[in-house]
Amino acid sequence: MLEIKDLALHFDTFEGTAKVLDGVSLSLTHGDTLGVVGETGCGKSITSKAVLGLLPVPPARIPRGEIFFKGDDLLKKSPKEISKVRGTKIAMIFQDPMTYLNPVFSIEKQMTDVIIRHSRQNGSPLNKKQAIEKAVELLKAVQIPSPDQRIREYPHEFSGGMRQRVLIAMALSGEPELLIADEPTTALDVTIQAQILRLLRDLVNRLNLSILLISHDLGVVAKLCHRVAVMYAGNVVETSTIDRIFTAPLHPYSQGLLRSIPRLKKREDSLEGIAGSIPSFINPPKGCRFAPRCPKVMDICGNVKPILTEVEPGHSLACHLFPACRPADA
Ligand code: SF4
Ligand code: MG
Repeated sequence: MLEIKDLALHFDTFEGTAKVLDGVSLSLTHGDTLGVVGETGCGKSITSKAVLGLLPVPPARIPRGEIFFKGDDLLKKSPKEISKVRGTKIAMIFQDPMTYLNPVFSIEKQMTDVIIRHSRQNGSPLNKKQAIEKAVELLKAVQIPSPDQRIREYPHEFSGGMRQRVLIAMALSGEPELLIADEPTTALDVTIQAQILRLLRDLVNRLNLSILLISHDLGVVAKLCHRVAVMYAGNVVETSTIDRIFTAPLHPYSQGLLRSIPRLKKREDSLEGIAGSIPSFINPPKGCRFAPRCPKVMDICGNVKPILTEVEPGHSLACHLFPACRPADA
């Protein structure tokens, strides 16, 4: 369904070129739930924005790479063609629902505008009355109680969790095949977070949706996704099933991420962080970008970039501890 191949993304800044994505590869099959996890600034949100053509060009630049959606390279599409894909084929929900809802319009107005626009793009235009019916149906699908009454309310009359449900309903209005959710629960309380994740899981099963979930929280990803891609400083460093990453991560960065998650059975004082911080994107380390922080760093790591390679079925990683990840000339 979605295949990102060797995507590089640069930003031209006054200080120099920030090489924000350094050859990201990801793939998602139909009905798949893939989590993309990594610290703030690792490039996970930027990757998803590139898929939807939402990056400002310039200063953003894509020097190489491909983004295939159902066989078509999205990077070769015109802004008009991309805006057609956005919403009707691929939809997105974000961290802070209030930013994406207009406080001065009712939920009904905002939802019907989107529904009518999508219906025109799909070639079967709906009138206002039909659009309201569809909006109520969608609010019901995201489990908003008394949707026929609440639809007339304004965003401020909804709680944070309910607003996120409204945004999910709006995202579903174009009947997308792929939903990209960028930190959809980060701004919510833990209990509400669990409800939203349960809702998303339910929608995946019911509507046969594929989901790309972006989160800094491996725990959140584990609740929804079947597979995970771990990103570090603009690279995918490991991809595998959730079970495999939790039981036996192979990349030193994934191992560090896992050790930094609080667990019930573990004493709080044994929680470890990963020393150091994400490197500069203007002058990134030449070889492995994790080398300055890696407890297992070797000579080769500083000079040669490891290549994301499948080391066992369904499990890929980019680390010189696995000789298969070394380029042929290294
Ligand atoms: Fe550590 Fe080297 Fe592997 Fe990078 S390539 S994660 S520095 S061991
Ligand atoms: Mg982000």
